[in-house]
Amino acid sequence: MERLNFRLPDFTRHMWASENARISWEPLINKAIKAQQEIEWLSVAYEIRACALQLITPEGLVDFTDRVSKFGLLAMPIQTIGCSKSPYQSLPVKIQPGQAFNYLCAIGKPEKVQAFKEAWDKKDDNLIGKLHGFPDCCIKFFIDSWIKQGLIDTTWSMALNSINQHSTNELSFSMCEVAGPIELNILLRWLGIRLIPHLPCSFNCKPSLELALKLLEVGDQTGHTDSIKVIQEMLSWPVEWSALHGIAEIKTPLIKISTCTDATKIKYIVRREGTSYPAEGVSGINFPYKTNKPILLTLSHSYRRGIENPIEKPSSSFLEIGVEKEDTIEK
Ligand SMILES: [Zn+2]
Repeated sequence: MERLNFRLPDFTRHMWASENARISWEPLINKAIKAQQEIEWLSVAYEIRACALQLITPEGLVDFTDRVSKFGLLAMPIQTIGCSKSPYQSLPVKIQPGQAFNYLCAIGKPEKVQAFKEAWDKKDDNLIGKLHGFPDCCIKFFIDSWIKQGLIDTTWSMALNSINQHSTNELSFSMCEVAGPIELNILLRWLGIRLIPHLPCSFNCKPSLELALKLLEVGDQTGHTDSIKVIQEMLSWPVEWSALHGIAEIKTPLIKISTCTDATKIKYIVRREGTSYPAEGVSGINFPYKTNKPILLTLSHSYRRGIENPIEKPSSSFLEIGVEKEDTIEK
């Protein structure tokens, strides 16, 4: 990847395919994000891994500490971080005087949390990764790409690793087509939709898949099955990530995300074919859109919610919801 020597300020925005899509999916997504965050620390209680990290609001800290203590766990604040509108931050937001902030808490058994805090203070990324239960291959990948190369978006490197492992995928110029299990599809992480807490070294990383499956089991055992199904469904849609001049666009049939990425002179594209398509999704002739949606209207979330006669807007009319005007940062 040929990189340019600048970086845009951190930002993440998303646009819905239609108001109907937003009404149907926004509550499901918000619930799924909360469920995923719960599963991440519950996996420590279930001894899948030693530690987890979680952002906790100052007003929620007492209650959260009480909840984890029932499992014999400690939640130790190790850093304060400014609030972000997005559920994903590539870098911590600096605290502004008088502005809201969150505690970044390490969760685990007291001795493990102590070890985590020491590793955090020493910036020992290898030990931090091990305490998180991340596979060695992914820790090495993170240190190589994020720390040494200074990348803030590992998507392209991850795609290239996937190609090397599976020769059936195609690599042409600056476009990769990737496959792999949905559990390792992290292309919706900017929405907070993911089934694996770390950045896997590839879309086919076997140890990461093993970890993801254990977390899914924890989710099932702790009453989060419905939210897991929502995340699984979203991760099975076709998705395209592209990056140019420091801006990444992630397109799905239902939602389009724009966020900052590593600045490049040419456009890089990663595509992942889907196995399902939302009934509320946009129709279109270009990837990731389809003209003939295979799902019946009666299976849609809108229909199930009892909304009669849903009307979809044309594919060109993405609606931006709850975010600033698009024109503040342009390509
Ligand atoms: Zn790996």
